[in-house]
Amino acid sequence: MNIYFLIRVVAGFSACVNKYVVYLPKMISIKPHHFIDIIAAFGEGASFAPHPYGHAVHTVARKILKDINTKIKIELGADDICAPCIHNINGLCDDTIDTSFRPLAPRLKREWNLLVDKRWCQCLGLKQGDALTGKEFCERAERCLKEIPNIYRENPPGINAQKLSSIKKGLARIAEEDK
Ligand code: SF4
Repeated sequence: MNIYFLIRVVAGFSACVNKYVVYLPKMISIKPHHFIDIIAAFGEGASFAPHPYGHAVHTVARKILKDINTKIKIELGADDICAPCIHNINGLCDDTIDTSFRPLAPRLKREWNLLVDKRWCQCLGLKQGDALTGKEFCERAERCLKEIPNIYRENPPGINAQKLSSIKKGLARIAEEDK
């Protein structure tokens, strides 16, 4: 292959890549409870490694925590975390949850998620498609802390107490790093 032709091909490819990068969606679509789980994990010092499910918790968490002013969009269905997950079957989660310690919770994870996300939305004053920054989400979440036993009412009190503690630590750490 002619060297000048090769240079033009590489330059063209590079331009395409740059164009793709520029037009990647900047707004992260996320379920409310996924954001809450990221806050809680951050509070416990999680390192956000890839998960065997292949979902994008680690990449979404890193992006949000790197810049808490990142724009997010509320999603009650499959979000950007679910997108690469092995349990995301055509936009529906086929995973189940452990109901042994919460017999009143639905067995299907998508039903449990929706139940919890609707309760979060009610407390946060948000709905499907609403856009805000991660920081604004955290401010709203702070005001919902006392509602956690109600939002996760199928869980035993001990689990909710641990969740509350982790979320508090996560919110405090995010606020500290945002100073
Ligand atoms: S909700 Fe289901 S599809 Fe989404 S990340 Fe979790 S297991 Fe995967």
